Amino acid sequence: RIEIDAVTKYFGDRLVLDGVSLSVAAHEVVCLIGASGSGKSTLLRCINRLVEFDHGAIRLDGVPIDDKRFGATGLQRRIGIVFQSYNLFPHMRVIDNVTLAPRKVHGVPRAEAEDRARQLLGLFGMGDHATSYPEQLSGGQQQRVAIVRSLVSKPDVLLLDEVTAALDPELIGEVLQIIRGLKDEGMTMVIVTHEMGFARDCADRVCFLEGGRILEQGPPRTLLSRPENPRTRRFLQRII
Ligand code: ATP
Ligand code: MG
Repeated sequence: RIEIDAVTKYFGDRLVLDGVSLSVAAHEVVCLIGASGSGKSTLLRCINRLVEFDHGAIRLDGVPIDDKRFGATGLQRRIGIVFQSYNLFPHMRVIDNVTLAPRKVHGVPRAEAEDRARQLLGLFGMGDHATSYPEQLSGGQQQRVAIVRSLVSKPDVLLLDEVTAALDPELIGEVLQIIRGLKDEGMTMVIVTHEMGFARDCADRVCFLEGGRILEQGPPRTLLSRPENPRTRRFLQRII
């Protein structure tokens, strides 16, 4: 369970998150939507401390995320993140890419990390590519590898930041399918997406951000079809 409580973030003088509060229950899938610059990525990055916020609090299962209990790397193990640009190491084989962090950072023994990695790669249709290099894979395959990498450490929460935005249209579906599968397995996720069809199918809740605030939130069918806030309506009209 994640609790975000009145989080404020400035970049220099610029207020980027303006008192954002949001709770995400275990096994819940929350989608963040909103225009470019509304603060979606910044909010996501605050949750696993890639970005430090200025005011407010974020707790994971009741424990503030800057608590010493998480240590230097414990939070990143429990909260995985996947980006639009998959950020795989080009000179490393798939199997080494996905086991590097669990082995070197989280102390998982090599055999255990590789077993789990191979199992996940198989599950995601990448079983034949364990010894391939990233450049030998399609964008969709590389993104699946990036998702596997974040799952090898068995996170409790997965943060996904526009993971299909860099993909060719015909490759988007296969990655969205993987994310649906994770939802079916009960993974708690916060997903930034511009895929409104996906948000409608997959989210338990959708939040609309503008100017660093959550202006409206609700079940996808309500928020996407019958938004109450005129600004939400205007945003949806522009993109659909
Ligand atoms: P997009 O849909 O384009 O990804 P977003 O909603 O994810 O947008 P953010 O990336 O969170 O938006 O950015 C919110 C604001 O913060 C923007 O005005 C952006 O320019 C600014 N910003 C983001 N990261 C930084 C940074 N590292 N330094 C300075 N300003 C930043
Ligand atoms: Mg962003």
